[in-house]
Amino acid sequence: MNANSDVQVSVLGLGAMGSALAGALVRGGYATTVWNRSPGKADELVAQGARAVAGAGDAVRAGDVVIVCLLDHASVREVLGPLEGELAGRSVVNVTTTSPEQSRELAAWAAGAGIAYLDGGIMAVPHMIGEPGASILYSGSGDVFDQYKPVLDLFGDSAYFGADAGLASLYDLALLAGMYVMFAGFLHGAAMVAPAGVKAGDFAARAAPWLSAMTGAFEGFAEVIDGGDYTVAGQQSLHFSDLGDLLAATSGQGISTEVVDMVQRLIRRQIDAGHGEEGFARIIESIRQQAD
Ligand code: NDP
Repeated sequence: MNANSDVQVSVLGLGAMGSALAGALVRGGYATTVWNRSPGKADELVAQGARAVAGAGDAVRAGDVVIVCLLDHASVREVLGPLEGELAGRSVVNVTTTSPEQSRELAAWAAGAGIAYLDGGIMAVPHMIGEPGASILYSGSGDVFDQYKPVLDLFGDSAYFGADAGLASLYDLALLAGMYVMFAGFLHGAAMVAPAGVKAGDFAARAAPWLSAMTGAFEGFAEVIDGGDYTVAGQQSLHFSDLGDLLAATSGQGISTEVVDMVQRLIRRQIDAGHGEEGFARIIESIRQQAD
């Protein structure tokens, strides 16, 4: 018997991520019931102290809170749909990646069925779960978040964004947008220096601290955006930010200009609209309007 055994936790889905979450629960001392569609995935967790059951319904009945970590929205619907009756009165925390609309749809279905629903977006890879740096974004039922926060905190930093079940997913995707564009920017740089004989590894060693340092600019951009005045003194102007030289150097290396072109187009739209003396943060206005 351990300190946390009064809360029964069930996990549906033992893929790479579901197994990592279940492992963190077992290590955290919670009575953990696990289920997976295909057999054989629970063996290691059972050896650590989890209880495996043959049916998703068995897992639902065993849990005060049911953590759902399946492939996608369709698989969540497929598994939870027939269990509506068993789930009524229980708490579901769905950390399966879904779109904001899908999260809202699940929340509406849950509300109709008397299920307390919290949606989550995982900002980590499986080996990070329970380690510093992992975070999970939640929105939906504040009661579920508050009641089970000690459970959720075993996965990583738990952040709650409010009652709109789609907001965690939206935040998750917005953060991924930043990550992918940054990755593309890094790879562009690596492709640029490669014809000069620079190894990607050498470039990465230089790019990582540089890009980390540049994140320090976010706060200043955010202040300008939230203040609504792009003319605030002390900013780098859009004219100054013109990427013509960068594009020429890119072409000179015989590689695609697509990554830099994208940023240049956002800058040019604001300059062409007469805002060239205003700060770089103004390109958010290009992003806010769909391009023709
Ligand atoms: P996996 O592909 O490793 O596992 C998928 C899981 O979903 C398996 O348990 C699989 O069961 C189950 N599944 C798929 N379809 C169905 C279905 N129709 N009915 C029942 N079970 C089904 O994925 P991950 O564990 O890596 O990811 C799970 C979720 O976590 C995803 O939504 C993913 O986007 C999210 N996530 C994952 C991250 C990662 O780095 N891995 C990072 C952030 C989020 P079976 O074993 O039977 O196939």
